Amino acid sequence: MATVAAPVLPLIDSDEVGLMRETVAGICTSYGPEYTRRKTEAGESCTELWDELASRGYLGVNLPEQYGGGGMGLSGLSVVGEEITAAGTSLLLIVVSPAIVGSMIAKHASEEQRERWLPGIAAGTTKVAFAITEPGAGSNSHKLATVAERVDGGYKLRGEKTYISGVEEADAVLVVARARLGNGELGAPLPMLVDVDAPGFQRQEIPMALRAPDKQWTLFFDDVEVPEDRVIGGETGGLGALFDGLNPERIMGASIAAGAGRRALELGAAYARERDVWGQPIGAHQGIAHPLAEAKIELEMARLMTQKAAALNDAGAKAGEASNMAKYAAAEAAIKCVDRAIQAHGGNGFALEYGLSDMWWGVRLARTAPVSREMILNYVAEHSLGLPKSY
Ligand SMILES: Cc1cc2nc3c(=O)[nH]c(=O)nc-3n(C[C@H](O)[C@H](O)[C@H](O)COP(=O)(O)OP(=O)(O)OC[C@H]3O[C@@H](n4cnc5c(N)ncnc54)[C@H](O)[C@@H]3O)c2cc1C
Repeated sequence: MATVAAPVLPLIDSDEVGLMRETVAGICTSYGPEYTRRKTEAGESCTELWDELASRGYLGVNLPEQYGGGGMGLSGLSVVGEEITAAGTSLLLIVVSPAIVGSMIAKHASEEQRERWLPGIAAGTTKVAFAITEPGAGSNSHKLATVAERVDGGYKLRGEKTYISGVEEADAVLVVARARLGNGELGAPLPMLVDVDAPGFQRQEIPMALRAPDKQWTLFFDDVEVPEDRVIGGETGGLGALFDGLNPERIMGASIAAGAGRRALELGAAYARERDVWGQPIGAHQGIAHPLAEAKIELEMARLMTQKAAALNDAGAKAGEASNMAKYAAAEAAIKCVDRAIQAHGGNGFALEYGLSDMWWGVRLARTAPVSREMILNYVAEHSLGLPKSY
């Protein structure tokens, strides 16, 4: 049995983490929600914020130092993710490029591939999106139908992916395909890096209610040539590589949801301390105070589970259960925080000026993506409670 370092869960930030948290919060606050809103309305990416955090090394803090990362694992990157959303800013690709893709490459790619991809991802100068979801497969990854046909020197890729985030900013997409086996059937998942400008690769934007600078895309692959050296984990190691990207995805999904929840509660509590319609602040009424307090408790529990999942992941221990639970808890807590902060704001909760209504779809998304509430409950029922699978 492989040994793992004993996972450590610091209950307060170390000096190093505290300084990073403060610095990232300071940078993001200097951009603030106004910047995010302006970029969203203009249909532009938050490039200046990405570049500033990247140039200070914060977007690669999880990756190994030998490839230019900060060596702090997901415990470090989840602090960065939380502070970004807590400041009212948004960089969805932090969940994808350094966390999912960077983790998969760091653990499962060949040395040549690591040297080719990791320094750019760690520096934030190379951005990679991640595409697993398909219109016909959805939550059932056994039904993935994007096919990689073997050809001389590599593969030809054919298929469709949908709801893929941030492709407009990306240099490449890590596409989860399946190789056609000798008997004509489809093999295990095969993650492959495809350049966004590869011939035969097209995309179509999906109009979304979600107010975020990052766009969502349907991707079409029409016999896209993918050289052999773009496959991560080889024909047999793709599934393991994929699994090692999914826990980081859940942990980062949890941390950005938790940051949004924090921000909503800060806004809700500040408003409830000031707003006075009966001769005392509305926060003195338990009908306003208790829902906010309850959301605060659930948020702190979710943050703790997120730290636990990150610590297990970084120690190389089994992190699936904790990562799923963290994502579940953080999504539910963040939705509650935003909903209750909106309620505390009365009619003002719906005006863009108060900074809450445009958070709604972002936190609501966390209940569905990157993995849905129901699929997490399925996981916990089956793996944690030993209940039979119904599907
Ligand atoms: C804004 C946004 C960004 C996204 N970004 C990305 C991305 O960058 N890359 C990417 O690959 N994907 C991305 N996704 C896709 C996302 O991961 C999927 O939407 C999500 O996993 C659910 O899959 P689905 O939409 O196909 O739903 P379906 O699988 O069709 O499910 C529909 C509903 O049925 C439930 N359900 C399905 N099966 C079961 C079951 N066995 N038991 C109980 N309930 C079940 C689901 O929980 C869900 O509520 C994004 C989605 C959104 C909305």
